[in-house]
Amino acid sequence: MRLALFGADGKVGRALAPVLERAGHEVRGIEIGDAVDVAGLDAAVDFTTPEAAPANVRAALEQGVSCVVGTTGWDPAPLGALAAERGLRLFVAPNFSVGAVLMMRFARDAAAYFPRAEIVELHNEAKKDAPSGTAKATAELIGEGTVVHSVRLPGLVAHQEVIFGGEGQLLTIRHDTTGRESFGPGVLLALEKLGSLPPGLTLGLDALLVP
Ligand code: NAP
Repeated sequence: MRLALFGADGKVGRALAPVLERAGHEVRGIEIGDAVDVAGLDAAVDFTTPEAAPANVRAALEQGVSCVVGTTGWDPAPLGALAAERGLRLFVAPNFSVGAVLMMRFARDAAAYFPRAEIVELHNEAKKDAPSGTAKATAELIGEGTVVHSVRLPGLVAHQEVIFGGEGQLLTIRHDTTGRESFGPGVLLALEKLGSLPPGLTLGLDALLVP
């Protein structure tokens, strides 16, 4: 596909561009201040900021280009409506790591069989918010009262353990992110499925995985 990549010089963008190119896509990087000229491209990918993403996505949709967005902290619903009006797709996922999404799915399944669970999420000290969005979403899937422990230390990247306790047994489900390349397969999957999604907004990588 011929792609625009908004935020190509960002931390995720720099890791993602080579992954997209190795998969055979042609990538046009678009940074702050560049003209948003994407007409004729097959899709736009955005990993920028919550301030920049809505304008980027609006510009792409207005030029007839469907979008795949990883930027967090903004409300995509109004632009989902614009995409639907124009017969285009807007796919937004707060977590493009296939492993993390599977960890959440497995935790939801295990919750039916264990009386108690606690989550330990561990991130680099640079991460200011705690608990992480992934830990909060996992806790919601498991059920009310699930305790989350947050660890912030140098040396960590992004890790989460979900520990289920039952009579005479423990089940631990753990996911480790060791690099931003981990978002590549999720973005490639979204691009592959984009054309077959219904027009408008689709949220979350889980919607694209085998049920
Ligand atoms: P980052 O390193 O700050 O990169 C953001 C990039 O976007 C910077 O290069 C920035 O340029 C650029 N930018 C800002 N405004 C722009 C505009 N109007 N047009 C084009 N580019 C623009 O951040 P990051 O760590 O890569 O993360 C980017 C976003 O993805 C964040 O919202 C983060 O939460 C999210 N994220 C999502 C996932 C997921 O799986 N969904 C995973 C990781 C991160 P300047 O530096 O010049 O401002």
